[in-house]
Amino acid sequence: MSTDTLAAPAPAPASGLSDEQMAELQALRERYRVERDKRLREDGNEQYVEIKGDYARYAVDPYVPPGFTRAPLADQVEILVIGGGFGGLQAGAHLRMAGEESIRFIEAGGDFGGTWYWNRYPGAACDMEASVYLPMLEELRVKPTMRFAMGADILAHAQHIARHFDLYRDALFQTRVTKLEWVEADAVWLVHTDRDDRIRARFVVMSNGPLNRPKLPGIPGIEGYRGHTFHTSRWDYAYTGGGPLGGLDKIGDKRIAIIGTGATAVQCVPHLAEGAKHLYVFQRTPSSVDVRNDRPVPPEWYDEQKPGWQRERIENFTTLVAGGYADRDLVRDGWTEAARNFRQLAMADRSVLSSMEKIMLTMELADAKKMTAVRARVDEVVKDPKVAESLKPWYRQFCKRPCFHDEYLQTFNRDNVTLVDTQGAGVERITENGIVANGQHFEVDAIVFATGFEVGTGYTRRAGYDLIGRSGETLSQKWAHGMRTLHGMLTNGFPNLFIFGPPQSGQTANYTHSLGEQARHATFLISQAHARKVRTMEPTVAEEDAWVQTIIDGQRRNQEFLASCTPGYYNNEGKPEARGVQNSPYGQGPIPYFKMLAQWRESDRFSGLQLTSL
Ligand code: NDP
Repeated sequence: MSTDTLAAPAPAPASGLSDEQMAELQALRERYRVERDKRLREDGNEQYVEIKGDYARYAVDPYVPPGFTRAPLADQVEILVIGGGFGGLQAGAHLRMAGEESIRFIEAGGDFGGTWYWNRYPGAACDMEASVYLPMLEELRVKPTMRFAMGADILAHAQHIARHFDLYRDALFQTRVTKLEWVEADAVWLVHTDRDDRIRARFVVMSNGPLNRPKLPGIPGIEGYRGHTFHTSRWDYAYTGGGPLGGLDKIGDKRIAIIGTGATAVQCVPHLAEGAKHLYVFQRTPSSVDVRNDRPVPPEWYDEQKPGWQRERIENFTTLVAGGYADRDLVRDGWTEAARNFRQLAMADRSVLSSMEKIMLTMELADAKKMTAVRARVDEVVKDPKVAESLKPWYRQFCKRPCFHDEYLQTFNRDNVTLVDTQGAGVERITENGIVANGQHFEVDAIVFATGFEVGTGYTRRAGYDLIGRSGETLSQKWAHGMRTLHGMLTNGFPNLFIFGPPQSGQTANYTHSLGEQARHATFLISQAHARKVRTMEPTVAEEDAWVQTIIDGQRRNQEFLASCTPGYYNNEGKPEARGVQNSPYGQGPIPYFKMLAQWRESDRFSGLQLTSL
């Protein structure tokens, strides 16, 4: 892998924009606005159907045999971790390293792995370099053999972390938390589950995952469809044949529809096309699909790195992707390219750094350069010019999850693939034997929903349980008008509780990075509670208020950007204001947030927390 220094200055003019450049940028903004407006809808998040009741079958775990039972538990542990994905796993790892023995996991799936446990669709892989995405490579001396890891390898790595830190010992799988109640007299959380467990825990870590609840589109007629259907996060290999690496050998006589063209669809569409008699891809908004360029990484590459290399590489990547400054680009991939473009413009004309307005304009230019190249790639790859036009994304790169794939666009050159471009309108109707879009009926044998996950709905709805705090107030009541936390992780009235996730904290595109930092922080607090004989810890109301204000103040500029974006879960389906600025991440970005947490720990003053003693 190369660790090139950033590109040398280009002679081109930078942000002292010529009239011609400014006119081009304005035209691009206008095109983006028109494309966004086609997709704005009054119902926003309400357009989707919650997976429950008649739709509950879409969430059934296909990876475990049915009928699992076990006796309920009624006991006490020191630390209970909810969620066995990379957040919970990193919490478990750090807690074990800090000497904690009594740790119990509760996980809805049949094993550790989180999103990689559920998302085993064909082609599932990580679009970020394994060296930054996979936690603890250095500690565990793991050397991924390819630059990008496939889903099955990521799942295996998650399970390796669990084994390495002996986390299976006390884990409860196929178990969902149904309620948490604070018992003041004993200073414990009483945890209820759908297996009738009643577990008491002094500390609870909640790492439920931001994308854990699949959602369906609220398309009329969906319940009357008589063919086969499933959601990508519960792939039905019994129907398609094959496995996560492809080879879908049971659908050679089937006409398949896939609804959705987000990051998931981009990865599974090539495999569906290869297996199916015919594939119809129903598109509302095209993804931006850049080069992936996977390649082997020899084991010597890892051996050559200096101690601490992975942390350095992860921080470098996050800095650049979040728009910060670093004098080198260690990963040098499609994620960091906009930063390289920005740097090039800034080096050609230093004055672009003289005001925030100029910096923002230059970032927009850098983004325009990137997205122009992404659109040009569509023309290069897709033979039919009309189809190519439909596949071009007209929005800024980080309005939606950028994708990186070397077979997706090529799939549309196949004779057995039809792109149904709904021009932002989406699918109109589902009939008993097919799909109606653009006024045309497409008869299909199966529909695959690649329609994503709930993001903008309430925290406790997504978690699947509520919490009753010290005063009897529930978390959903407390957060009815927006989240209230200190650092996104602790909340007054709910002692000894640690929340992992992006809102009010340092969100990163490389999500395992922020989870690792949150795991570090929670571990510090729990260890300190033990060392100092602390009975309860929670933030003061005043500190919580101050943090909420910090989040609101820091997000104003970002809200403007999000409002300009095509709808999607990044901007609450085109209504960023409706989610409340308050539920946003820390405005200064992830690296300043991680540094702030580290300084808070180092200060050793526990500022903002109220503590009681054992
Ligand atoms: P997304 O929410 O990104 O995509 C959902 C898709 O469904 C969109 O294309 C959406 O269109 C479409 N859709 C929804 N309703 C309709 C409708 N009525 N008619 C037609 N189309 C419709 O979900 P994904 O599962 O693709 O991705 C979710 C996230 O998972 C990613 O953003 C990423 O964070 C993560 N992921 C990460 C990967 C990785 O490599 N690390 C790989 C895959 C996923 P529209 O865009 O118009 O809303």
